[in-house]
Amino acid sequence: MGDVIQLLSDHLANQIAAGEVIQRPASAVKELLENAIDAGATEIQLVIKDAGKELIQVIDNGCGMSPTDARMSFERHATSKIKSIEDLFKIRTMGFRGEALASVAAVAQVELRTCKHGSELGTRLCIEGTEVKLQEPYVTGPGTNLMVKNLFFNVPARRHFLKSNSTEFRHIIDEFTRIALAHPKIAFRLWHNGVEQFHLEAGNLKTRIVGLLGGSYEKNLVPVEEQTDLLNISGFIGKPEAATRTRGMQFFFINNRFIRNPYLHHAVTTAYEGLIEKESFPFYVLFLEADPARVDVNVHPTKQEVKFDDDRMMYAYLNAAIKHSLARYNIAPSLDFTLNPQITQLRSVQLPQSTQEKESVEKGYLYNTFTQRNQAHLIEHKDSRQQWKDLYEIARKPQEQGTPQSMGNTESPSAPLLHNDTGIPVNSQNVLVVQGAMLITTVKSGLMIIHIRRAQERIWYERLLEEWNSGHTPSQQLLFPVSYDLPPQDALLLNEVIADLSRIGFDIAPFGQNTFVVQGVPTALPSGEEKNVLDEVIEQLRHESHDAVGQRSDKLLRQLACRLSRNKHAIQQPEGQQALIDELFACKQPEYTPEGKKVFSLLRKEALDEILG
Ligand code: ADP
Ligand code: MG
Repeated sequence: MGDVIQLLSDHLANQIAAGEVIQRPASAVKELLENAIDAGATEIQLVIKDAGKELIQVIDNGCGMSPTDARMSFERHATSKIKSIEDLFKIRTMGFRGEALASVAAVAQVELRTCKHGSELGTRLCIEGTEVKLQEPYVTGPGTNLMVKNLFFNVPARRHFLKSNSTEFRHIIDEFTRIALAHPKIAFRLWHNGVEQFHLEAGNLKTRIVGLLGGSYEKNLVPVEEQTDLLNISGFIGKPEAATRTRGMQFFFINNRFIRNPYLHHAVTTAYEGLIEKESFPFYVLFLEADPARVDVNVHPTKQEVKFDDDRMMYAYLNAAIKHSLARYNIAPSLDFTLNPQITQLRSVQLPQSTQEKESVEKGYLYNTFTQRNQAHLIEHKDSRQQWKDLYEIARKPQEQGTPQSMGNTESPSAPLLHNDTGIPVNSQNVLVVQGAMLITTVKSGLMIIHIRRAQERIWYERLLEEWNSGHTPSQQLLFPVSYDLPPQDALLLNEVIADLSRIGFDIAPFGQNTFVVQGVPTALPSGEEKNVLDEVIEQLRHESHDAVGQRSDKLLRQLACRLSRNKHAIQQPEGQQALIDELFACKQPEYTPEGKKVFSLLRKEALDEILG
């Protein structure tokens, strides 16, 4: 047998390499748009035919290329963007591999028209499957116009496997959206088959989001803006009501480069805990800026994945920044009203490695921030409560506020007493109790069904939170202190949270090695419950992984709220029912429990009509 190894021809090698960079029309769109941006363009037009299968054309007013550069740009590893390996670690441009144009030219018919600013004569160059067919001087305005025709014309297998036009065009829109979001100061236009799809003027991020995603976003955007020595975070997040059941409206950019990162996504979504349902996704467009030396973008050819030198730190910052915004713009009731002390502390300490150290940082942070809660927040706080009250106000006074179609209107004040399942008469005005579990009340648009236990949970949570933040949790001293023995590993856990527990009203003192004495409990806690609650706390702590700063205390509050909400006596009297509803709608976020379960639901008149056929 003779030798079998042969060198691939340049042409074939190019096609294979091209497959990594250009998988579909959308990848070519991305590369060409990025080149236009790197060229300093302020106006970019994208013209597409047949979802990019027939034509992808990008026209920019960037720097343009000299005749030699125009020819060079199609060589593999030809780039003007990096010169040495050091440059690789401080990349600021979108491209840097010098592969895109070579790849496109290997699998399509390409025509380039370009002219440098200040030059009188430009260049026209046609290249087909890597072969230069024509290069000539050409009169054209400054900038670059690149046409990619019949993508994969010479790779039938690839062309055959392209998806339907609508799918491929959707991918193109995705790429276009990401790039346009990251560059609001650049004007973009996009045509598909002769129809203009987007016309985006140069503006700011807000106008860009609205231009791309629709006017409905305008009122739902909450700004995020945090700056530290290591990392800047900016952009917008959506209000909880803008959350959707489908993914796709989540955008992360690191140094202006779109990335996917489930870990960072998690940092954002956990900040929404208790504000949106578990299955839904918050909207966000977030820009993280870090020293390029700390971010490695060179891990994947399509550059959507990056590595950071310190993921945990990124996570903690991001999570805190989102919570801060939600609190500052008065959307979430929150533990952390000021972010900066934490950031400062984290920065000076770095992230400690041992749990003990970590603990001390977290505690320091919490106490710092609690004392700095400021008045402005209290004022904003009232505004959002007012909104909820307004919604419910309708429920309270149907007779006065009802319109002809309102249900409340048909009810006369002298309506007979209603009876619930247990036979206890309830407030005839508009509250019904169903099997001790639900309250039903009339509102202007129909019926409101309230889950009693969940409502109590929400109320307790916000009450505890407020007490926690004000630092005045009423504690009730036990007449007979209760001793509490624990196995050594659990005693360690309890020791870690004694300070936190004291902030919610527990007065617990260590008493010997693994024994504690419970001397006081939160006033709201039914007597005899203290051990159960502490058992639950410890159970939680056992399963707890690395919680971000502040989360542990929040969990304690939620646990306690959950436990306190199991009190059924509260709603046996009509006054209790009314009080529950009033208190619920005085909450900042009455719609969901801290765990994200729905507290109430509206059954609209139309839905009722439908039920009755
Ligand atoms: P990279 O962007 O990684 O450098 P490309 O293959 O995408 O590699 O482009 C090769 C080179 O061609 C770029 O470095 C740049 O100098 C030049 N170039 C490409 N597109 C444009 C453009 N629209 N305007 C000006 N120069 C461009
Ligand atoms: Mg490029």
